[in-house]
Amino acid sequence: MALTAVSADNGPGQGHEPLLHEADGHTVRQRETLSTIARDHGVSLQAIRDANPQVLNPDVIYPGQTLNLPEGAVPPTPAFVDPAGPTPTLERTDRGPVVTQLQEGLHSAGFDPGTVDGIFGARTEQAVRAFQASRDLDVDGIVGRDTWGALGRSADRPVEPVTGDVVATGDALTDRRIDGLHPEVRAVASQFVQRVEQELGIQLRVTDGFRSFDEQDALYAQGRNGNPGPIVTNARGGQSYHNYGLAFDVVELRPDGNVSWDTDWEGIGRIGEAMGLEWGGRWTGLVDRPHFQLDHGLSTAQLRERVNSENLRADGFVNLD
Ligand SMILES: [Zn+2]
Repeated sequence: MALTAVSADNGPGQGHEPLLHEADGHTVRQRETLSTIARDHGVSLQAIRDANPQVLNPDVIYPGQTLNLPEGAVPPTPAFVDPAGPTPTLERTDRGPVVTQLQEGLHSAGFDPGTVDGIFGARTEQAVRAFQASRDLDVDGIVGRDTWGALGRSADRPVEPVTGDVVATGDALTDRRIDGLHPEVRAVASQFVQRVEQELGIQLRVTDGFRSFDEQDALYAQGRNGNPGPIVTNARGGQSYHNYGLAFDVVELRPDGNVSWDTDWEGIGRIGEAMGLEWGGRWTGLVDRPHFQLDHGLSTAQLRERVNSENLRADGFVNLD
């Protein structure tokens, strides 16, 4: 993501695209989640869920969908990406989507601003100062044009491929499911779980890894043609990277042993992406935030063709060469 071109001009008389009037509701934009919408409007996740009983699965919302805003919701900081516009100056106590972009940029550059929450707090300032020092900029904790510029360049760095071994994740079920993945994915999956634990303090459980074509067909049928349950996938047998052991789904495993889908998906997704994984939270249409995959540059059609022609490794997994 380029971070050089951001504008937050909202002073009187400054010309800019007016934000949509949000008195009646909020239109979901790409990459938004119920959590980010709640945060950007200064209300709790529970409040926004209560105001939208029609949203049965809070993890599934669609760009363009209209949501009700609860009592007490405030319009988000009027900031928007404008390639031709000036860069906003950000400092301590600023908040809003532009701060989220700053925090994402710091993270991509290898600095830790804490939780990506759109609030410029102490940890964000600390990360800004460390970043400024590393780039020979004035170390003032204030994000002006030079710091944005340096972040823009560093955010464009290519992802380093993950190397190394499979590591134990601290959850036996997770280790077993990782063991069932394609051998080329096991190391990155296990190191991803480890890194989320180290960076976010969140223990993940892998709920789903390898899935046979038949199991995928059964999952596709769920919620369709009168079958019970919500629709959870758009892929039939052979159309999901799960069917080749190249995808896995995660959930937060709480210390009490219960799992929770109400977790820091943005933070988890960002770590996965930094490790070269594709994250289902970025998909449009059916957003699938628990889902991560590593496609090795192959489409599912190409993979299916390899399976059908028995282009397989000795261990039975599809040949990725
Ligand atoms: Zn999945």
